[in-house]
Amino acid sequence: MKISEVKSLPRLSDLDDSNLVVFYNKSDGVYLTADIAKKEPGLAKYLENFFKKITKRQEKQDKQDKQGDGKNNSLGIHDFFYVGSSGDSYQGLLAGYKKEIDNLDVLRLGAKIAKRMLKQDLTKSHIILPVGELGNKSEHFFEGLGLASYHFSHYYSDKNRAPKLKEIVLVSKGGASSAEMPMKRVLVDSVNIARDCGNIAGNDFTPSHFKKRCAQLSLAGGLKFSVLDEKDFKKLGMGCFQAVAKGSAEPAFLNIMEYKPTKFKETLLLVGKGLTFDTGGYSLKPAGSMEEMKFDMCGGATVVGVMNLIATLKPKVRVVAMVATAENMISDKAYKPGDIFTAYNKKTIEVINTDAEGRLVLADSLAYGVDKYKPTAIIDLATLTGACVVALGKGHTGLFSNSKKLTKLVQVAAKEVGEHVWPLPIDDAFQEEIKSDYADLKNVGSRWGGASTAAKFLENFVDKTPWVHLDIAGTAWDSKNVDFYPSKGATGVGVRLLCQMLKDWQW
Ligand SMILES: [Zn+2]
Repeated sequence: MKISEVKSLPRLSDLDDSNLVVFYNKSDGVYLTADIAKKEPGLAKYLENFFKKITKRQEKQDKQDKQGDGKNNSLGIHDFFYVGSSGDSYQGLLAGYKKEIDNLDVLRLGAKIAKRMLKQDLTKSHIILPVGELGNKSEHFFEGLGLASYHFSHYYSDKNRAPKLKEIVLVSKGGASSAEMPMKRVLVDSVNIARDCGNIAGNDFTPSHFKKRCAQLSLAGGLKFSVLDEKDFKKLGMGCFQAVAKGSAEPAFLNIMEYKPTKFKETLLLVGKGLTFDTGGYSLKPAGSMEEMKFDMCGGATVVGVMNLIATLKPKVRVVAMVATAENMISDKAYKPGDIFTAYNKKTIEVINTDAEGRLVLADSLAYGVDKYKPTAIIDLATLTGACVVALGKGHTGLFSNSKKLTKLVQVAAKEVGEHVWPLPIDDAFQEEIKSDYADLKNVGSRWGGASTAAKFLENFVDKTPWVHLDIAGTAWDSKNVDFYPSKGATGVGVRLLCQMLKDWQW
């Protein structure tokens, strides 16, 4: 989607093949361009009356609804079609909002409008931002538009299946670009890069493709790039990563991207799970929905999205980003339940379930990252457990941590960007669950509290480093109840959260 910004108001002729989006709030009224208002005085009146009715209805509803706190700032989005006195017709959307509107309200309003526009038949849309509160937050409006107008149509042979809308012209009288606008552009691109990585089919996005993506992005952003392959896993004693990788004909890689500012005090280690496909191995997954396992690399995709932005963001902390990629397959070389492997930190692990492969790959990556880079803090992201989805649903990411301080940083950033994280426990009782009779640890516990036992397992590989594990199994794809996520496919969850945290980095 092309989203251009212009300062001048569109002429009537510009609107011929275009939608017009009109805003309304009670104190500012309907905002129309001067020549439209002049030519069609009836249109402004028509729109105003339309909105007055909606506002009244909303106010009545707020009063009736005892539970409602009246904090719903949106008055909804409505289609309009108006035939003027000259015979010209005007079609578009009316978007109403109450006077007080915060950054996230503006973002959501932009997202809702984008989703409505995607369903319509026009190829272009003019959005005229009013002066005042909404106009002053144009970068958040842009962010909402950019995030919600994403549509993955890469594989459609009939290009008409894709949404018709190709261009949005954002008209902002004050001269559209706020200082933050260029950053928002890269941010939206970065989220969409993460989404693309998730949505591309598994046969077109193997660990080798993932490696190429990491290398290209590092080159473009001036990041140091290095990669460990299966020979390195063997040499370094990363027995768990090696075990998962060996079942597939596709070679596995641990990609490492490093951003290093000239002056820094802390190092943040980001680790993303990048299983480009997960069959479950010999503990085979059921056939229903197995195709969704191409999304098992969304943690890695989020890390890639963040690193795409980092050269623009220039945070004052060193960031080492690891994307741990492999395919979990069945073959004569694949690992089996009952096998025991030694991790990088010398802990031995009995495999109970080969579908709990993500934590094995992460275990070696985390332990290696701690040893090699001595990070101040670690955040890992993984589509790790179905149990987390059962516990929290599709709208909340599970948060597990050994550090109150780091938890707070993540929670503050999440709130700021409108992503939901929810803390779950990892106390010692969960360690009992993963004690093995034959080795130090086993890779799964009982079926109860599965998200917490998985997180507890990972804690065994971070030493004492402050660490947050984000289980994004519910939020990484098809997370319908968030306005600015696409209704289908990868969401790019976590990119905006981590970028917000890096932007405000304070340890
Ligand atoms: Zn699995």
